[in-house]
This record gives sequence, C-alpha cells and structure tokens, in this order.
Amino acid sequence: MSLTAVAVFCGSSPGRDPAYADAARLTGRRLAERGIAVVYGGGHVGLMGTVADAALEAGGEVVGVIPRSLHERELTHTGVTELHVVETMHERKAVMADRSDAFLALPGGAGTLEEIAEQWTWAQLTIHEKRSGFLDVLGFWQPMRTMLDHMVAEGFVRESQSGIVTIDDDLDRLLETLASPPTWRDKWDLEVKR
Ligand code: AMP
Repeated sequence: MSLTAVAVFCGSSPGRDPAYADAARLTGRRLAERGIAVVYGGGHVGLMGTVADAALEAGGEVVGVIPRSLHERELTHTGVTELHVVETMHERKAVMADRSDAFLALPGGAGTLEEIAEQWTWAQLTIHEKRSGFLDVLGFWQPMRTMLDHMVAEGFVRESQSGIVTIDDDLDRLLETLASPPTWRDKWDLEVKR
C-alpha cells in the first residue's frame, strides 16, 4: 500500500527544545517529497504551523481542518492548499480520519494525545484499518512505549493488536511501517462493521 495522505497530530506549541521544530520541519518536507498530503488541524501555531509551512515550501499538499471556534480566534493557517472550517472538534477528527491513510503523532500535549488515541481506538474496533505512529523525537514518546507495554502486560491491550501503533525515532522507517497492510483483527473478533 502506498500512502497518499497522512494525518499529522502535533503540538500547538513549539516545545522547549528546537529539536522538536526541526523534526516537524523534516516531517513536512519528507511527506511532500514522497507526494503524501499532510492532513492536519489547520493551525498556524506551534509544531502544527511548522509542519504545514515545511510541506508547502517543499511543494506538498496541505489539508487543514479547523473548528470554527479556533478559526474565529485567528489561529488558522491561511496558506494551506485546502481548508475546511467545521463546526465541532468531533467533526474535525472525523474529516481528518476520512481523508488520511494513516496517523502520525509528533510531540505534543493533550490535544495530540487524544487525537492519536482516538484513531488507535477506532483501529482496534476496525472502524478503519489504518495504522498510527509516534515519531519519537528526543525520546519524547518513551513514556508511551512504557505505557503501551504496561497495558499489554496487564491485559488491557491485546498483544495481537499492539501493532496498530508504532513508536519509532526514524521518520522514513516509521512511514514505511505506516504504509504496511494491517495485521490485526477486530478486538471482539466480530465481523468487521463499518
Ligand atoms: P496540543 O497537543 O494540546 O497542543 O493540541 C494539538 C492538537 O489539537 C493539534 O493536532 C490540533 O488538531 C488541535 N489543536 C490544538 N490547538 C489548536 C489550535 N490553536 N489551532 C488548531 N488546532 C489546534
């Protein structure tokens, strides 16, 4: 499978270390170079803005999906290829999920975590069969690695479904993984219902 669009979830803040912005720039550029559209939250702030700027600079396609409340607070990136102003956060996440073949989390806060966790959950339930990846910049996602292992060890995430998410510090390898076909089954082994 080749990826045509990836949803990037990341901080609306730049983070303390400049390495985070460097990784965001690399992500935007690399997705553009590979001809993969960036689907993201549509903001111009933080790592989000950095990913979008880098993809646009490299000639890539950037699809922004922003709720009206944030749009009205002038947080929108006005230079994106395609902008969707939607009514609610839920609608935004549904549009982002529909438009993407896979999901990529860069370092970020609560917003980033809930967005990637939602897609991970939907894959567990085979609402879709798309992978989620965490780009591990400066070891940022190592606590997530520990949490995931703990969830498996304690019987809350099935080992067979742990491959839905990948934590990797190498962007190219992570993109290869995200492009690979799904290997998991529905959490309840039910007929897949979409
Ligand atoms: P956080 O990690 O808490 O900074 O939240 C970042 C995620 O939440 C992004 O992937 C966005 O989808 C969404 N988000 C948070 N703040 C904004 C903003 N100012 N403009 C657009 N989207 C935002």
